[in-house]
Amino acid sequence: MSEPTEAELRAEIVRVTRAMAERGLNRGTSGNVSVRFATGMLVTPSGVAPDKLTVDGVVFVDMDGAVSADASRPSSEWRMHMGLYARRPDVNAVVHCHSRHATILACAGKPIPAMHYMVAVGGKSFVPLAPYSTFGTDALARNVAEALEGGYACLMANHGQIVAAANLDRALVIAEEVEEQAAVYWGTLAIGGPKLLDADQMGEVFVQFKGYGQAI
Ligand SMILES: [Zn+2]
Repeated sequence: MSEPTEAELRAEIVRVTRAMAERGLNRGTSGNVSVRFATGMLVTPSGVAPDKLTVDGVVFVDMDGAVSADASRPSSEWRMHMGLYARRPDVNAVVHCHSRHATILACAGKPIPAMHYMVAVGGKSFVPLAPYSTFGTDALARNVAEALEGGYACLMANHGQIVAAANLDRALVIAEEVEEQAAVYWGTLAIGGPKLLDADQMGEVFVQFKGYGQAI
């Protein structure tokens, strides 16, 4: 299969950004999407609503943060995306959003424990919580990269969630599942808390996922 072209990747970013809004993962201009490309990445611009986003509005940012003079301003969270491409050769796409239930847990300082087997879609037996830092900073980029180590998804304290995956469609699927798991966990907390799966049970889940060819 040949590498996707820049035009195809730009179109993919527009499609996935709109899909996130349609599926209720994002509202307004919050959230951002990127893919690895050439010597950097293509990322959504700052402050553009999904229905107003065009392929030309997607911004190329070089590894050192350079943006061409005629391009839009990249997402204020571009450092967080770039930090993941720099540290994770397995990652080609990143999505970040403030989906409601993931954000509720992130604001309450609660990572998602092993309370349902689909928590494993994030690559670990729990969905970790990255410590808080101001949005757009290198400190937040570092916190997120550390929390994502060995996995694909994490909550971000007092902020939202972020997913790093091999491609954009996979990242979207994981972000949607993290939001669903967050909603379920939130619900269980209202009725006495979840009954957790143990390490052996979660270990079997990972074996099953591999059997189904699911890239987790
Ligand atoms: Zn954000």
